[in-house]
Amino acid sequence: MNRVVRFLKSILLIDLIKGMRVTLRYAPQPAFTFQYPAERRPVAARFRGILRLQVEPETGAPTCIVCDQCAKVCPDDLIALGGHREPGQKIKILDYFDFNLSRCSFCGLCAEVCPTRPIKALIMSEDYELGSYTRDRQVLRIDEMYDGLPIENYVR
Ligand code: SF4
Ligand code: SF4
Repeated sequence: MNRVVRFLKSILLIDLIKGMRVTLRYAPQPAFTFQYPAERRPVAARFRGILRLQVEPETGAPTCIVCDQCAKVCPDDLIALGGHREPGQKIKILDYFDFNLSRCSFCGLCAEVCPTRPIKALIMSEDYELGSYTRDRQVLRIDEMYDGLPIENYVR
């Protein structure tokens, strides 16, 4: 009996018609694809991208106070930073900030402990383009920590 049903189904193209019905049901709907990299998909509000240092929005002054908490809390020891104190000043000035992106697990602990308010000196940005063509490009220096990681386009 099963063989007869299968035979009739194949003669009458039942499976093909079922497949076409599904295709026709979804065909009029708008596409969900993004034309990356021309179009970037919006990220969720609490997305954890590459670490970024922030400045005061009005003055452009650095907000990092060189407390070293982010470096100390990192479970993989990926942050190295240092600064100096001008004579008569209480707050230190950041001289260097090296972040080894290649082993970061994006746990967010470093941004979480950063104590500066209302502007956090260290945040997890919305950048997710992590790729680079050499290993040393995976260590971000202070300028890249402020400006963001430049996107490397592949050139033949
Ligand atoms: S996100 Fe986590 S692993 Fe990455 S640098 Fe910060 S503390 Fe370290
Ligand atoms: S925790 Fe924040 S303020 Fe402290 S050194 Fe790190 S980035 Fe600077």
